[in-house]
Amino acid sequence: MQPINKMSMEFSSQPANVAFARVAVAAFASQLDFTLAELEELKVAISEAVTNAIVHGYAGSRMGTVCIATELYYDRIVVTIEDRGCGINDVQKALQPAFTTDPERMGLGFTFMQSFADSLQVHSRPGQGTRIVLSKKTSRAIPAIAGH
Ligand code: ATP
Ligand code: MG
Repeated sequence: MQPINKMSMEFSSQPANVAFARVAVAAFASQLDFTLAELEELKVAISEAVTNAIVHGYAGSRMGTVCIATELYYDRIVVTIEDRGCGINDVQKALQPAFTTDPERMGLGFTFMQSFADSLQVHSRPGQGTRIVLSKKTSRAIPAIAGH
């Protein structure tokens, strides 16, 4: 199925860009008839993924690049968040609730992403980076454009 619209962007791995990314993706997603609650959930998932890229992937270095690509379909948005940072050694372990490699953190970012997205894929290679693909459906899809 072809997306009905696409948007991509890249930005430096700076904490200030978490809020920017969250708002930019939500603004793009607003072209679909998401409820406010669904948009809030999407924003949380994007924040968690971008924060992870900055905090873990690039270990706080502001010199990294985070890429986001989004595709809109008539009933959902698919968002890819990618970094070329340190990667994850054991993805299955990282996905467990409360697992963290930073004792100051809760280890709940992936748990939020899983509960607020309809699907979540994590592709990662140690030393090469991490790609998160999440999709979120709208409960108010318009059947009239379902063929697109
Ligand atoms: P919280 O999100 O609650 O602040 P957290 O970031 O440690 O804590 P998760 O977001 O669930 O928890 O991530 C679990 C672990 O997966 C992290 O502690 C980190 O080791 C690893 N991780 C997640 N994203 C990345 C990434 N982009 N690059 C490298 N490691 C990552
Ligand atoms: Mg996290």
